[in-house]
Amino acid sequence: MKRMPAFAAALLITAALAAPASAQMGGAASATIEPGEQCPEGMTEVRPGRCQAPQVPPPSIVDYRPESTLVTAEHLVPRAKFPAVDFHGHPRGFTTPEAMAEMIAAMDELNVGVMIAANNVSGDALRQTVAAIEASPWPDRVRVMTGIDFSDVGPGWAERAVAQLEADAEAGAVAIGEISKALGLRYTKADGSRLAIDDPDLDPIWEAAGRLGLPVFLHTADPAEFFEPFDNTNERWLELGLFPNRRYPSDEFPSFEQLLEERDNLFRRHPGTVFVTAHLGWQANDLGALGRLFDENPNVYAEIGAVLYDIGRQPRGAHDFFVRYQDRILFGKDAFQPNEYPYYWRVLETADEYFDYYRGYHAFWKLYGIDLPDEVLRKVYFENAVRLMSGMPQEGWPEGE
Ligand SMILES: [Zn+2]
Repeated sequence: MKRMPAFAAALLITAALAAPASAQMGGAASATIEPGEQCPEGMTEVRPGRCQAPQVPPPSIVDYRPESTLVTAEHLVPRAKFPAVDFHGHPRGFTTPEAMAEMIAAMDELNVGVMIAANNVSGDALRQTVAAIEASPWPDRVRVMTGIDFSDVGPGWAERAVAQLEADAEAGAVAIGEISKALGLRYTKADGSRLAIDDPDLDPIWEAAGRLGLPVFLHTADPAEFFEPFDNTNERWLELGLFPNRRYPSDEFPSFEQLLEERDNLFRRHPGTVFVTAHLGWQANDLGALGRLFDENPNVYAEIGAVLYDIGRQPRGAHDFFVRYQDRILFGKDAFQPNEYPYYWRVLETADEYFDYYRGYHAFWKLYGIDLPDEVLRKVYFENAVRLMSGMPQEGWPEGE
């Protein structure tokens, strides 16, 4: 228990208010706490064991916008140093000639070499997408993943799903995904039970993926804070306050730990299949755990989309992690917002300090560059992706030293 009982805090507040020594203009309130306890609501710990309330009404966390006074070197990076493969691409409606020209122009400006559409497209839609890319002036700039339909898993499902995967691989899919977080959180089986990520009924498709040489791109769970109590200690309070449907109350959903355990069972059970866990497996805030996952499973890779706030708040640890696991990490962005990519380049390529992130609600901190060496940048940006997927353009990448 971190909190002191409310009655004890109330006693201390009353005592402080009554004591002439601590009473100031406006009626200051203070309290003392034991190590490990938290200050009563409305108070902050001004020195160890001593809580005090602001003497003017505090702004809410939404209205408090401190402007940094730090003056330090800035190196904005509008273009990636090497052409990047966006392994976690979600371009929408890009197959008309006009939309594709617009996307390629944005990619050129950012130095995104290849966009991988991770939009779960299968069958005729996949064939039409591949045909549109091949007929365009940019046949080597976009690749497409296929998807898996997890509805009604039961007798006969695996045979149909494997046949579809084989057809989609033949049609030009380079990987499978993005398999959505609904696997584990929301899909149910034909018999109505929750479809666990490591359900044995799914084994034939993971084996087929290995046989067909298609990496499986899997998004499991969501940030751990979304599963935790929604209180004043939750690191993502603002986001959960803005978007209440991102919460996973424990009486309705499996826990974060259970979902990761099912995911890791799956990875272990199919050592011949390559898995890429999205968003650094939602373990960017615990890189030691992600490192152990890598150490134990040579078939597992991770993609860095949408967790830049965790990479950029631990520049030394993240630098060492990226260097150590340089063969296992892929660049990916998730949402296709061209003006957000340069934040990734800046974090990965520079040693800049204490700069803003592009979302105001993910995190209450600034970012630092992790200053990766060129050989690591090359792997994270394109070499790992080109190696993992035989359907990638294999020629035309910049030569190394
Ligand atoms: Zn995604």
